[in-house]
Amino acid sequence: MESKKEKTFKFVVVGGGIAGVTCVEQLSSQFPSEAVALVTAGPHIKAVTNYKQVSRRLEEFDVEEKPSSVLEDKYPNLTIIHSAVKSLRTRTHCVETADGRVFGYEKLCICSGARPKLLTQENPHVLGIRDTDSAQEFQKRLAKAKRIVVVGNGGIALELVYEVRRCEVIWAVKDKAIGNTFFDAGAAQFLIPSLEADKEQAAAPCKRQRFTTEEPAPDAAHTFTAGTWDVSTSLTVHHGSRRVSVEYLCEVEHIFTSEEFLVSSKQTPKPDTAGSWPVYVQLTNGETFGCDFVVSATGVVPNTEPFLHGNNFSLADDGGLRVDDHMMTSETDVYAAGDACSACWEHSPLWQQMRLWTQARQMGWYAGRCMAADVLSEPIDLDFCFELFSHVTKFFNYKVVLLGKFNAQGLGSDHELLVRCTKGREYVKVVLSGGRMVGAVLIGETDLEETFENLILNRMDLTAYGEELLNPDIDIEDYFD
Ligand code: FAD
Repeated sequence: MESKKEKTFKFVVVGGGIAGVTCVEQLSSQFPSEAVALVTAGPHIKAVTNYKQVSRRLEEFDVEEKPSSVLEDKYPNLTIIHSAVKSLRTRTHCVETADGRVFGYEKLCICSGARPKLLTQENPHVLGIRDTDSAQEFQKRLAKAKRIVVVGNGGIALELVYEVRRCEVIWAVKDKAIGNTFFDAGAAQFLIPSLEADKEQAAAPCKRQRFTTEEPAPDAAHTFTAGTWDVSTSLTVHHGSRRVSVEYLCEVEHIFTSEEFLVSSKQTPKPDTAGSWPVYVQLTNGETFGCDFVVSATGVVPNTEPFLHGNNFSLADDGGLRVDDHMMTSETDVYAAGDACSACWEHSPLWQQMRLWTQARQMGWYAGRCMAADVLSEPIDLDFCFELFSHVTKFFNYKVVLLGKFNAQGLGSDHELLVRCTKGREYVKVVLSGGRMVGAVLIGETDLEETFENLILNRMDLTAYGEELLNPDIDIEDYFD
């Protein structure tokens, strides 16, 4: 492969997603006279637009697909190679593309993203959503569908279930609450009414409660329940054009075609599913549902295959390329960022990796800076964005801010939770450990993000403030001024 090299670039970045584009922009602008290449399969790239720094650590931006020419127009030293990387030879520092070309690199960054884990391969009735094309395919099929089954409990499933109208949705989640990746069951309870109505309830009186995850809250108010969250195993909500049935604590046992289903005399469908649906889903709770198609939203798998053969990459348990605190993989001169990588440095006690746009941008940007520092033999410290996990998003039309160990991740029983909840308006949860705030979930327009971020970062002992911390009658900003 060495002899066939068409050109050698100082920097090659693979992947036109948020991580790759941010990385390549960083490198192209820092080294305007060096040759930089972006290798990406599709004609479009994902660009960060409307970037806004909400607070010290929180950032908001939109993601837009743009023609890749916008990057070449902006950076004359940048070449876009429109092909997928087929193989990588780390020993000879070159990549081969699907169209048979070979390019050399001095430093390479792999930002090839991740793809949805599919419940089953090559079943035309099972769809994974990963990009604009698959989203369009989903829309097309949804237009003709009467019922779909959504499997999964992460951000994609949450968004999808909320957005689908005029089609019945059976939502199978393996946990005892919706949105388990992002919330605890209290937040889920807060959000569930949104599936019934578009914020039609008047704001109920505010409730505050203090509890630990070990002790269930006595007389848990209907605005939230605490501790051992008790959710029935199935919930159905109907409102106008939205019909969602949630099947809790279950996974997919089997997927049948209509032919398989008909010959299988053992199956006992619900009476209304006895008709001929194109596909049938049997859940581990014993229920079987016929539907037009199944959406598999059960997490992602990092896209690493083309890079592995013949090389010696160290992989994490989730299949990502292990990277150190300089975004460097186990192979010399090869970096990785975004969904393709697994952050394997010793994390700050307030940060965890989640495969999200924010982290793809931060990692891509930091990887570019690390590659530059390496070339210039300059030292570089881990960027402060990895000090505190922070994410701002929207679920069910509510603003959602997640900070630090927002779900008490990794804290065991060594924590306490404070919750304030006003039905239909806001849900505020604070995670305290050793009297210090280590995480928070803010749903709704709480305006607390900056203060809480500061309290978390300052590591201030809040024991003396107790529940007053969430007293809605106290202006907490003034309190800590
Ligand atoms: P990607 O954006 O996946 O980009 C990977 C790029 O690599 C693509 O351009 C691909 O074509 C290219 N590529 C792959 N293999 C090769 C190869 N062999 N050769 C060349 N190029 C290759 N996160 C949020 O924070 N908020 C959200 O609302 C949100 N919604 C989401 C909705 C959906 C349906 C999905 C699937 C994910 C969502 N995410 C969201 C997660 C977010 O999209 C990812 O975390 C983020 O896009 C990762 O960025 P990335 O650059 O690492 O990878």
